[in-house]
Amino acid sequence: MATNGTLTWLGHAAFRIDTPGGKRIYVDPFLTGNPKCPAGEQEPERVDAIFLTHGHGDHYGDTLELAKRFECAVVAPVELADWLATQGVESVHDPNKGGTVDLDGVKVTLTHAQHSSSTNDGTYAGEACGLMIELENGFTLYVAGDTNVFGDMALIARLYAPDVAVLPIGGHYTMDPKEAAVALELLGVKRCVPCHYGTFPVLTGTPEQLRELAPDVTIEAPEPGGSIEL
Ligand SMILES: [Zn+2]
Repeated sequence: MATNGTLTWLGHAAFRIDTPGGKRIYVDPFLTGNPKCPAGEQEPERVDAIFLTHGHGDHYGDTLELAKRFECAVVAPVELADWLATQGVESVHDPNKGGTVDLDGVKVTLTHAQHSSSTNDGTYAGEACGLMIELENGFTLYVAGDTNVFGDMALIARLYAPDVAVLPIGGHYTMDPKEAAVALELLGVKRCVPCHYGTFPVLTGTPEQLRELAPDVTIEAPEPGGSIEL
């Protein structure tokens, strides 16, 4: 395994992180029902933790079932964490923006995002968030979650100086490549993994468009099921 671990795209906004310390973390695990999640990735063998950005079904996805099956920790914005607890998830961590949870050396901080958040049964799920994930060796990964671009991404850069940014680029529900290019400028990152595109017909943004608009940034866009070395 590479020093900084690997990031595997499971289609849409779902990712698996295999950390340098050997943990397997799922971010927004929308697996079954995700038209882009490879069949072989829909039944995880192991889940050590789940990190969620917000309460929409295309993000919390399979969380209830996975959290119960693997008895793993789930980190989610407080109102969403409360809802997960009412659904029988036992090990929930409930930070809000600016708060950090340290899970045995992997730290996750909730950041601002501009989006909405409610669960499939209509429960208000608090504000949508981004995630700043610091791996055991200090490598930092910013997962923007669903959001448009906003000026305070400059504060995220100043505070956390992420090594890689995971940005939505599909448009319609989130930023598109034009906004994502400005986001990359504000974040000051040199590496970007795009997501939230191509899943449904309205999500039309492409990595190629982002590459044209952000020529100084390496856009790493594996196929669903593919991994990059962090
Ligand atoms: Zn979404």
